[in-house]
Amino acid sequence: MSSGCVYLVGAGPGDPGLLTVRGRELLSGADVVVYDYLSSPRLLALAPQTAERIYVGKQASAHTLSQEQINELLVQQGRQGKHVVRLKGGDPYVFGRGGEEALALVEAGVPFEVVPGVTAGIAAAAYAGIPVTHRTLASNVGFVTGHETPDKPGSDLDYQALADWKGTLIFYMGVRNVGAICEGLMGRGLSGDTPAALVRWGTTARQETLTGTVATIAERVKQAAFKPPALIIIGEVIALREKLNGFERRPLFGRRIVVARSRAQASTLAAGLEALGAEAIEFPAIRIEPPGDPEPLREAVARLSDFDWIVFSGADAVSAFFGALAESGRDSRALGSVRLCATGSATAARLGEHGLRPDVTPGGYAATAVADALSGAGGLDGAKVLLPRADGAASALAAELTARGATVADPVAYRIVPCDSGAEEMRRRLGENEVDWIAFASSSTVKNFFSIIDPDRVRPGETHLASIGPATSAALRELALEPTVEAEPHTAAGLIDAIAGCQIHCQEPS
Ligand code: SAH
Repeated sequence: MSSGCVYLVGAGPGDPGLLTVRGRELLSGADVVVYDYLSSPRLLALAPQTAERIYVGKQASAHTLSQEQINELLVQQGRQGKHVVRLKGGDPYVFGRGGEEALALVEAGVPFEVVPGVTAGIAAAAYAGIPVTHRTLASNVGFVTGHETPDKPGSDLDYQALADWKGTLIFYMGVRNVGAICEGLMGRGLSGDTPAALVRWGTTARQETLTGTVATIAERVKQAAFKPPALIIIGEVIALREKLNGFERRPLFGRRIVVARSRAQASTLAAGLEALGAEAIEFPAIRIEPPGDPEPLREAVARLSDFDWIVFSGADAVSAFFGALAESGRDSRALGSVRLCATGSATAARLGEHGLRPDVTPGGYAATAVADALSGAGGLDGAKVLLPRADGAASALAAELTARGATVADPVAYRIVPCDSGAEEMRRRLGENEVDWIAFASSSTVKNFFSIIDPDRVRPGETHLASIGPATSAALRELALEPTVEAEPHTAAGLIDAIAGCQIHCQEPS
């Protein structure tokens, strides 16, 4: 690498979907990511695994680097010829001291580029149902620092101009000063009846909104012990929230749901839960590892043309198979006329990533359903079937196919092992009642999750359990745990619907 560059990238307000396309592109090529407490952890996952991640501190924490130290760090990293992404909450140049970081880089002669982001003032307001302008209610919007109080000597803020503003005012960093700000505005003639709102952790599942008027809001903030980071919004546009606030009304809004699946599987379930407003906490209770003995899979892959069918019983089987194929120096063309069966939609989607479409997708996961589907597509008697599988329990599917006359090769293609990274944090969350649901998408995940986490930590009635189907429910009951809901159909979508349905129809989990 010859010349480095430091990219000041706006991370957006919290919802990872609000990162720009350019921001994502730069993250995916980063050697170093420098971030702070306003950047979503989801965004860090977009950087390569090998990228160095440097945390420069929590607001008001002892571990915070000073602004000068951050500037120095960026200069140093840039000088080493690295591709550095400096992730900054919202927009880098809106109250984030991004301007200072850019100037330090220019002065040091380090190339830099700025990538604007969606600022919290606009996005958090929008997600709370407040458009910052409106043709008849607000013709102007002002972004103001709430750090400076009206009575601060030498303040650069003109409170008279703000009181006369007649549009929307959005104060950043103002929670602690909300009383002084409102009094300052009223003291200069702004009506105490003007609507006011605070939005905390806007655009995330933790979003909280408090509403009142300029005269009442400070007292409400005190009563609710409302904490930063939050914006103070003042103006008539707040009245529109009544009609436009869809975000906070989504069925799983604010629910904290642990998704206990393997890393690779977790994200579809997590994304579906988040789309309904939940905070999905991915807990990779299991991890996929290569087989202890890779030889049987290698041997099967070397003679692919011997098979009539390959049956993939999970997305991980697809990945393991194609890993072995690539290792053998070949690609999908080696499949030739072998027909493919994928037992579920996630498995079919994984095949799609390799440009392939299954010939058969059975109506269910049960061994008989899969065998029926293969029989229907040309008969099993005498058929040669390759069934790459996980280690451990012998496959019911292999037995069923053999019983119907097929010759089955079922090499172990991957191992499922318990993974205890994040276990401490999970115990803390359960202990402090910070988990509303745990969603289990397989019986093996139940076993693995509770081999790491003591089942007694789950408090009945406080943390609810959601199971994808009968086998998963049985695994829970073996541990004397009763699922609150069981999915029907037994798919990720069914699991999401079951949880959402319970939130709407059952007693509200507290
Ligand atoms: N550059 C950022 C602002 C940094 S100043 C941006 O463009 O959004 C930090 C302040 O931003 C916080 O004190 C708070 O007032 C506001 N803020 C940032 N993220 C927020 C969020 N998700 N919800 C509410 N306020 C937020």
